[in-house]
Amino acid sequence: MKLANRMSRLGTETAFVVLAKAKELEAQGHEIIHLEIGEPDFDTPQNIIDEATKALTNHWTHYGPAAGLPPLREAIAREIGRTRGIKVGPENVVVTPGGKPIMFFVMLALVNEGDEVIYPNPGFPIYESVINFIGAKPVAIRMREENNFRLDVDELISLVTPKTRLVIINSPQNPTGSVLRKADLEAIAEVAIKNDVFVLSDEIYSRIIYDGRHQSISSIDGMPERTVILDGYSKTYAMTGWRLGYGVMPADLAGQVAKLQTNCNSCTASFTQVAGIEALTGDQSEVGRMVAEFRRRRDFIVAGLNELKGISCQKPEGAFYVFPSIKQLGLSSSQFESRVLSEAGVAVLSGTSFGAFGEGYVRFSYANSVENIEKALGKMAKFLRGL
Ligand code: PLP
Repeated sequence: MKLANRMSRLGTETAFVVLAKAKELEAQGHEIIHLEIGEPDFDTPQNIIDEATKALTNHWTHYGPAAGLPPLREAIAREIGRTRGIKVGPENVVVTPGGKPIMFFVMLALVNEGDEVIYPNPGFPIYESVINFIGAKPVAIRMREENNFRLDVDELISLVTPKTRLVIINSPQNPTGSVLRKADLEAIAEVAIKNDVFVLSDEIYSRIIYDGRHQSISSIDGMPERTVILDGYSKTYAMTGWRLGYGVMPADLAGQVAKLQTNCNSCTASFTQVAGIEALTGDQSEVGRMVAEFRRRRDFIVAGLNELKGISCQKPEGAFYVFPSIKQLGLSSSQFESRVLSEAGVAVLSGTSFGAFGEGYVRFSYANSVENIEKALGKMAKFLRGL
């Protein structure tokens, strides 16, 4: 088929490819333990489900405003104002089906062909994909293990040019679980202000953090006017399939992002937005329980991986991923991914699914029970003994 040229520049998320392969093996009768999926294994808290059910019964089944329902945008503005210590109103908020469209819309709205966008590598693969798709130049900033997978600000300074339009940061980070320090954020903010660039701050894991509180670059003076905060419900409230997220940004940009949404999907589903108000303003104890369980699993998987021959694993500070080094094994990351799946029945993702600098690493998601993680560690120990 003759496709438009731009399609050759569009990437994907290989998590879905590995999931499909794993399902195929399961259909053939093999037992597979899923450590590849980036979504909480918990159910959405019941108060949120009840609110959505009630909203459906009350006929929240029609189109709504492109930017989102005003009471939800107000609730989000209050939440962001409180947690980031900044002054924002509903005019700064655009609600989208998941946080992901914010990446797409914001880059479409801000970045011209030929502009440069600095993005974390290894990092969420959709950043690089969208940068390429819109004809901009992706400039990778390497997340180095020796720097606890945090970006190095001197390296950032060396990558900025007059063509740099946007810097993407992500903390807590996928796939490494790293968390940027206040000093990192201050230094990044200084670079952004000095060079007049925008920052897309992907804070989708802001509530899944194990030591201290989440820090946002938007809290720094001079940053609210050049920052887009991406956040949402998928991870915090185990709502991946609901498709509910948002961006918080300068009001002018919010208007443009809403216009893109009008052209693309009109609006986000109304009854999910009504439930989104309950999620933010209702009982938060389930979030605390989920994070406590993630912490238990993190400690378990890090200790278990470090006991395996040829694998070494840092302890991440946020999100629900570990990103151990497999450099001593003599296998490439993608060989490890395919052999561990077919020979040990454990689905994981090659570090290169997150960019070229992910070579030598593998991502394990610990959004699975301790029992299953223990089983997976046992299967991998056996596989590694046979290498
Ligand atoms: N940002 C990061 C870093 C992610 O890992 C994900 C999902 O995996 C998203 C954004 C998008 O989340 P959603 O569109 O489900 O809100």
